[in-house]
Amino acid sequence: MLGDSSPAELLIRQAHVLDPASGLDEIMDVRLSSGRIAEVGEGIRGPRELDADGLHLFPGFVDVHAHWRTPGREDEEDIQSGSAAAAAGGFTGVVMMPNTDPIVDRPVVVSGLVGRVERESRVRTRVSAALHRGLAGERLTEMRLLKQAGAFCVSDDGLGTASAGVLRNGMLYARSAGLPVILHCEDHTLATGVVHDGVAASLAGIPGSPASAEDAATATALVLAAETGARVHITHVSTALSAALVGFFRDRADVTADTTPHHLTLTEDLASTLDGRYRVNPPLRPEHDRAGLGLALRDRVLDFVATDHAPHASEEKELPMEEAAPGFLGHETAFAALHTDLVLGGRLSLTRLVETMSCAPGRWVGTGGSLAVGAPADLTLVDLSEEWTVGRGTLVSRSSNSPYIGRTLKGRVVGTMVGGEPVHDRTGAKFGARA
Ligand SMILES: [Zn+2]
Ligand SMILES: [Zn+2]
Repeated sequence: MLGDSSPAELLIRQAHVLDPASGLDEIMDVRLSSGRIAEVGEGIRGPRELDADGLHLFPGFVDVHAHWRTPGREDEEDIQSGSAAAAAGGFTGVVMMPNTDPIVDRPVVVSGLVGRVERESRVRTRVSAALHRGLAGERLTEMRLLKQAGAFCVSDDGLGTASAGVLRNGMLYARSAGLPVILHCEDHTLATGVVHDGVAASLAGIPGSPASAEDAATATALVLAAETGARVHITHVSTALSAALVGFFRDRADVTADTTPHHLTLTEDLASTLDGRYRVNPPLRPEHDRAGLGLALRDRVLDFVATDHAPHASEEKELPMEEAAPGFLGHETAFAALHTDLVLGGRLSLTRLVETMSCAPGRWVGTGGSLAVGAPADLTLVDLSEEWTVGRGTLVSRSSNSPYIGRTLKGRVVGTMVGGEPVHDRTGAKFGARA
């Protein structure tokens, strides 16, 4: 859908432009032309104008971790609904995870998906292929061929990490193929429970998995990354110790790491509801982990935020905790939840939040994350003062398994553009306004 037509000129007037990558943080006019940022300054005039007085303008958010359930579970999400949800959340770039049906572990599946994404996605979308055939942690995929077919990176996400020896071979091969590896660090011999093995699990009588299931796998992955020189991204870091381990290896390995909005804002206390809607993997952790992740994000120990957007049909979520599928929707509530809890809570600056949602993940994927003149016009307009209550009716995703349903959040995306084209528009049709 992108680049089908050459977008007209548009002048976004009087927006509060916040772009940490360019050092911009003031009310300015931004002129878009031919899908790019053409001019940023004051008193600019243009043939078509959008009055953005009172709104913030950020570089579009980039989410390196999404499950759009295509191919195979289009009843839960597909490329159109997933990309519409991403755009509604202010995202202009996404990486799709390969744990679909069929699994994205062969070149023909990669090339088919890349073609569909080009036709159907509203946002810039990259395809992750599997690291191992069938995500089984045994035989490596043909990574060179997967890359030729269009894969951007490899990951066995959805399942935990393979044994150390197998993982080491995978890193060596990924490095030689020139592909980054996204790792869901989880040791299956330790992760035998349903929720975090803590006080809430004990009180609720639900089997827990210890934090060591993640921490031991993270430590192993970091040691192997340092030794092999592979480009490794550790996703959904959920414990303070794992974040500290990433910090220790920052200058010792080619490593980056993200954490999720839900691990930054919710805690294991939700296990006491016994409600499967709050089941997620890695599990929600105790308050000290939640607080530690916020500090790690603030202090640049963690690089950025990724949502792990994981739609599930209601019959898979509206179940007791033990029976429910793990995973939450993420795209549409990410900014609002983090703005409400971390920024308005005084624990993270708005600038750092934009850096962790736009600039840093944009650098990781190689596109977006900047409003510099000449950059693609991938941007999002946000009303920081709008309060809204998350409900099924407010969600664009085909699924509704958001852990924030019923919560009132402050800050809402009102418009998103990719390459200067509106892909989400709540500005009152102003994106399409004429002179
Ligand atoms: Zn995962
Ligand atoms: Zn995932």
